[in-house]
Amino acid sequence: MTSSLEGLARPVEQTPEGAEPRRALVIAAHPDDADFGCAGTAHLWTQQGWEFYYLVCTNGAKGSDDESLTPADLVRLRHEEQREAAALLGVKDVFFLDYEDGELTSNRAFLGDVVRYIRMIRPSAVFTHDPEAVIVRDSFINHSDHRAAGLTAVDAVYPAARDRLNFPEQIAAGLQPHKVSAIYIWGSERANFSVDITDAVELKVRALLLHRTQFSGEDFIRFVLERWRNEEGRYLESFRRVLMWA
Ligand SMILES: [Zn+2]
Repeated sequence: MTSSLEGLARPVEQTPEGAEPRRALVIAAHPDDADFGCAGTAHLWTQQGWEFYYLVCTNGAKGSDDESLTPADLVRLRHEEQREAAALLGVKDVFFLDYEDGELTSNRAFLGDVVRYIRMIRPSAVFTHDPEAVIVRDSFINHSDHRAAGLTAVDAVYPAARDRLNFPEQIAAGLQPHKVSAIYIWGSERANFSVDITDAVELKVRALLLHRTQFSGEDFIRFVLERWRNEEGRYLESFRRVLMWA
């Protein structure tokens, strides 16, 4: 992992006055993953004129051991929590595909859903999970939903969203093919780009704590802060950045 700050904390290009805002679509498996992966970047870039959108692929129905909650309760609560966290950060909108938690696979229907959102939102940047890693740093397993979401996100960027002959029914319905300029993959062991989120780290912690069914307490806060801090005491979000069509 790089701890270099030279990856800069601002967009690749400034938005020219009067031009369309630069947009980012964050494609995440579960409610809370987008905030873990890129809440700081989403907030800081939003302040610089970007528009961020979240696309949450599963319903989060398996994310609790609390026996007093039915899966339906959990889905409702997790939607609310994700919307609150996104609003706190300045994320423009949150969309839910509501595939069953724990059962996400990279199939044609899911790919079509992601392509449709890319063609609707027309982002220049897509943020997502690492589609390649199964075992990470010999210490944990990259959740199968995360792998499926990451793989489908990159497959959607290229070639599916770009080519009009993929999902032509979307084109017939009025959408246009779309080229995403860059993919930012969080949780990668091959990070090559970092955003200094020190100015937004407090807000990122608050956003995560809004996922009340998932996180709480001082130990959690200490754990995440340690994980994001580099040797110089700055807080980073690190990504493997893939520049498309360069
Ligand atoms: Zn997750």
